[in-house]
Amino acid sequence: MRVPVIAGNWKMYKTAAEAAAFVRAFLPLVSGAREVEIVLAPPYTSIGAVARLVQGSGIGVASQNVHFEDEGAFTGEVSTAMLKEAGATHCIVGHSERRQYYAETDDAANRKVRAALAAGLSPILCMGEMLPDREAGKTFDVVGRQVAGGLKEIPAADAARIIVAYEPVWAIGTGKTATPAQAQEVHAFLRGRLKELWGGAADSVRILYGGSVKPDNIAALMANEDIDGALVGGASLSPESFAKIVTFH
Ligand code: PEP
Repeated sequence: MRVPVIAGNWKMYKTAAEAAAFVRAFLPLVSGAREVEIVLAPPYTSIGAVARLVQGSGIGVASQNVHFEDEGAFTGEVSTAMLKEAGATHCIVGHSERRQYYAETDDAANRKVRAALAAGLSPILCMGEMLPDREAGKTFDVVGRQVAGGLKEIPAADAARIIVAYEPVWAIGTGKTATPAQAQEVHAFLRGRLKELWGGAADSVRILYGGSVKPDNIAALMANEDIDGALVGGASLSPESFAKIVTFH
């Protein structure tokens, strides 16, 4: 059985003090949550504070990006070792905002996934089609290319540590959620591609849905066979709404 993962991507919101206030309010709201892995992805500057406060709770902490080199003259970048030291357990890779605004490619995502795995961080590899892709019937071409590129030459032995997030770009921050059937269709397609890559090990990969997930739509999404959790942006910024999503069942 795949334990669901519910991850909150805070994007460029919350100072360290605001992040700490969130965690203090959030912990009691989810203390009874069972059979779910919770991950918080604050900005880099709050990873240390969040990691200290969630210690012992089982909650994971993700960065929203990472560099693939161990160190070097890469102004503004952060390495896997720096993230580990700060307390990160996961890192988001290839988020659509990184692809759109910072020209991140599948090749860069692949190098980041490898760097994360080598450092003992669990990568959350994001992918998803833009609206014109969907309207042109190219959704499977796009996500097929993204999953193959992002996971190129990664062995089946690493499958269980990798989390995939399907996030249709037209649903991110727009209030337009993919219907559960639309999401399941793409998740099943991705599971098929993972099986071609890794055989039976693909059954252990959690595939999260992301795109305007809210307390009132999480249950319908999670009722689908290949939807193993959610990557939540806007609705993860409030402790109350994120706790409702985590404890949806
Ligand atoms: C995201 O940033 O990954 C996301 C899914 O955002 P939102 O939930 O706000 O659509």
